[in-house]
Amino acid sequence: MQDFHALGLPQPLMRSLESMKFTTPTPIQAQAIPPALEGKDILGSAQTGTGKTAAFGIPLVARLLNSPRGSALVMTPTRELAVQVIDTLQQLLGKYSPIQTALLIGGESMPAQVQQLRMRPRLIVGTPGRIFDHLERGSLMLHDAGFLVLDETDRMLDMGFAVQIERIAKYLPQQRQTLMFSATLPADIIKMSERYLNNPVRVSVGSTTTPIAKIQQEIIHVSEEAKYDKLLAQLNQRQGSIIVFVKTKWGAEKMAHKLRREKHSADAIHGDLHQNKRERVITAFRDRKHRIMVATDIAARGLDIPHIEHVINYDLPQCPEDYIHRIGRTARAGAEGAAICLITPKDAEKWEAIQRLMNPDARPAARKPNPGNNAPGQGNRRRRRPRRRPQ
Ligand code: ADP
Ligand code: MG
Repeated sequence: MQDFHALGLPQPLMRSLESMKFTTPTPIQAQAIPPALEGKDILGSAQTGTGKTAAFGIPLVARLLNSPRGSALVMTPTRELAVQVIDTLQQLLGKYSPIQTALLIGGESMPAQVQQLRMRPRLIVGTPGRIFDHLERGSLMLHDAGFLVLDETDRMLDMGFAVQIERIAKYLPQQRQTLMFSATLPADIIKMSERYLNNPVRVSVGSTTTPIAKIQQEIIHVSEEAKYDKLLAQLNQRQGSIIVFVKTKWGAEKMAHKLRREKHSADAIHGDLHQNKRERVITAFRDRKHRIMVATDIAARGLDIPHIEHVINYDLPQCPEDYIHRIGRTARAGAEGAAICLITPKDAEKWEAIQRLMNPDARPAARKPNPGNNAPGQGNRRRRRPRRRPQ
């Protein structure tokens, strides 16, 4: 598919795409949009930064515009992601769209959300916890929600939302179209898709366990004691925006504080911050008011901040899959980026697990990390992932 014109989209949507400067569909969009416009269920997987939001957003908005009734529900794992998704969907609807929207996320005023719901929104975006609260209170009705999107489903399962999603699904009509997207497709996601999707079209782009080739990966072996100084050296020698990943919430705060003392412009983001504080941190970073964002893994998935030039893994992630999400924060939408890993001797085992995930065919004896190794891996390892608490 060369451009969006071939799809027969409603005029207002074509105009929105024009003003968003989306002329050519990305590969996942080219695969997902035509069957979704036909009303088919979709199970989609693609690396981060490949345009999944518009892959479900375009058919969703087309459906809302083409019919006078019915609503759509989009669930995302985190509040930040919900904010980003509703922002993109509102752009697709266009400035003057009569279609009302509602954002239902935790940490924000319930009465204000109830007020939004009174306007009979036809598009609802939110996180499972808050959506379920509204359903229970009766402030939200989903009996006419004929279009359901589960975004970043793997992340939602990791965060323990499976039960809530199941309860929410009971409020939706049986007759509906469901689109499910996930960066990875482990066994539990496949099982979930069998439960919620009806004869889905499976679309996928690239290997979901291989990072995008444009990311330049650099590995720095360092002792525990020298690690912080190495980080400072990296921050000083690099230009542009940087995310530094650390293990704990407290570690993130402490690191941001230390960096500020060294006259770096830095702030921290993690799961303990209030919603409006988190949004302020992201906005400041997006607007380049802060050059450095110190983050725990909650910030690793889904956030679309176009200008991240470098991802520094100060601590390795607990879960190998998170490595791919972390470095997926850079090199988005075809840009170039660098991912730097600081590896201490005690990281050896974790690093090996990451290498195995990215390159499952490599000989297990390869103990030395292989810098710049981003050969495509084959297939998707099905492994049980430990359930983690939101960080
Ligand atoms: P994903 O959900 O797959 O991680 P996003 O939907 O967040 O990716 O999109 C990543 C970036 O690509 C965003 O900045 C978005 O505006 C941009 N983008 C998406 N589709 C297109 C397109 N067809 N043309 C140009 N840019 C696009
Ligand atoms: Mg996304």
